[in-house]
Amino acid sequence: MPSQEQSLNLQERAHPCAVWFRRDLRLDDNRCLQEAFKRSKGRIIPIYVLDPREHEPNLLGWPKCGAFRGQFLLEALSDLRMKFKRMGSDLVVRIGPPEEILPNLVDQHGATHLYTLDPQDHREAEVIRLVSEGCYREGVEFVEIEGSTLYDYSRIPFAEGELPQSFIEFRRILERDASPKPPELAIKKVLPLPMGLRAGNLPKLESMNLTEFPQDPRSTISFIGGEANGLKRLKDYVWERKLISYSSTTRQGLGGEQISTKLSAWVNLGCLSPRRIWYELLAFEAKHGGSQGVYQLIYHLTMRDFMIFHAKQMGEKLYQVEGLRELPKVWEEESERFAMWYQGYSGFPLIDAFMRELSTTGYISPRGRQIVSSFFVKQLRLPWTWAASCFETLLIDYHPAITWGAMQSVAGVGVDLPQVSDHPIESGYAVDWEGAYIRFWVPELASVPPEYIYQPHLLNEEQQAYLGLYLGQNYPHPIVSPPDFTEREPTPRERNQELIMERLKRYGKL
Ligand SMILES: Cc1cc2nc3c(=O)[nH]c(=O)nc-3n(C[C@H](O)[C@H](O)[C@H](O)COP(=O)(O)OP(=O)(O)OC[C@H]3O[C@@H](n4cnc5c(N)ncnc54)[C@H](O)[C@@H]3O)c2cc1C
Repeated sequence: MPSQEQSLNLQERAHPCAVWFRRDLRLDDNRCLQEAFKRSKGRIIPIYVLDPREHEPNLLGWPKCGAFRGQFLLEALSDLRMKFKRMGSDLVVRIGPPEEILPNLVDQHGATHLYTLDPQDHREAEVIRLVSEGCYREGVEFVEIEGSTLYDYSRIPFAEGELPQSFIEFRRILERDASPKPPELAIKKVLPLPMGLRAGNLPKLESMNLTEFPQDPRSTISFIGGEANGLKRLKDYVWERKLISYSSTTRQGLGGEQISTKLSAWVNLGCLSPRRIWYELLAFEAKHGGSQGVYQLIYHLTMRDFMIFHAKQMGEKLYQVEGLRELPKVWEEESERFAMWYQGYSGFPLIDAFMRELSTTGYISPRGRQIVSSFFVKQLRLPWTWAASCFETLLIDYHPAITWGAMQSVAGVGVDLPQVSDHPIESGYAVDWEGAYIRFWVPELASVPPEYIYQPHLLNEEQQAYLGLYLGQNYPHPIVSPPDFTEREPTPRERNQELIMERLKRYGKL
């Protein structure tokens, strides 16, 4: 097989091939680039098209892509452009509907093929269909390639329409009968863009109807888009600090830098390939031995595939309130309750802390997402599609298949995912008895003692006056009655606390 250098010398005989970057903003393990490289002998035209429809208002009238994700995208594009520039080429950037821009653009510059990733949901599939029809009219061959999941959709052992609805079942069969393909190395060289092809300026936040915003210093990590930063976080979490070995015990935490990988934003924009993560984990395991943390990360990447494969088959149902199961459930369309929830003034400190972290940083922990979404449908009984739209705007790592699929599952109208404890008071006590997370995000409760930190509504007027906390004035009353406590065994931490209290009582210290 000729090396990349040798391939480049054959340039005269090859026509250019265009690559339409979408959710694969990277060079590493990028199959579209690899295929285009092989066919064109390095004469690649890399293109990104910012589609204004992605930035229109959503169901709530909010921008579909909020400022956190918008900024992350611009950083990722800038990183990708820099990589092509270093190789003597450039990233071509245009703004407008891809179907109006791409077929003409690639044809005008002599490209014979246009490569892109396969669609992740029905809406992407529609745009891709229009672009491929346009290419057909221009005589350009349109090629869709899989490359954003760990397993390949075309190689999973389930026939069309027979994807299991339960993740447990999906994973069991998948692990038995399929395996991911190893990642491919990044291309090292490409030839310059064709003469006369203007690269175009990178978009700005204003091109997405968004405005500049200051980064909040309380963010768990600095989320900066781009392949270089995604690979750096992976290396740091897995190899340098070996946090992956402990992540199975920390993952249930409420917040913080170490509790989970924080790779999702890079993975979903394609700055980081799931197969690269998997491969690094195998290498880590070979060197340091297996761990629950490694197992769990592969488990969750497989869950990501499960959600994306379902979204591919669900069509518009992914976004419909009846969901996959087509269950006509009754929801209460109460906009005031919704506002209190998303603004972080529900009167439930745990919910408020999560929602405040989300709206100021664009990220909350896996546990946080479970708890706020479950509270939304079970306690507030609001339409789950409102919460999904809110996540769509706010999450820096938003992926349509995962947000809408996970919300359907929480609302009981979607696929079966393993559920975890989601009580808005108990869940806090189970992992953070002192309420450090609450004190950080809801400073008006900073002086409240641990026994009340998740339930300040139990403080009487005298206690409130002593603490300077006046419910209904500087912190709200709960917007709904708190749910009953479940009858469960106390966690070791709670049991320990009980023992301490018993001893203090016995020795007259309480
Ligand atoms: C209502 C709701 C909405 C969600 N929306 C999104 C979303 O838009 N984008 C998103 O990536 N995840 C979403 N998740 C799943 C999960 O919460 C996030 O992937 C996780 O919090 C990302 O942080 P991490 O990278 O540190 O996670 P880790 O635990 O370190 O996981 C590593 C990777 O595995 C994948 N993953 C982890 N958990 C899940 C899961 N439950 N389902 C599918 N894939 C998973 C992600 O790609 C993630 O990057 C959602 C969960 C819920 C309950």
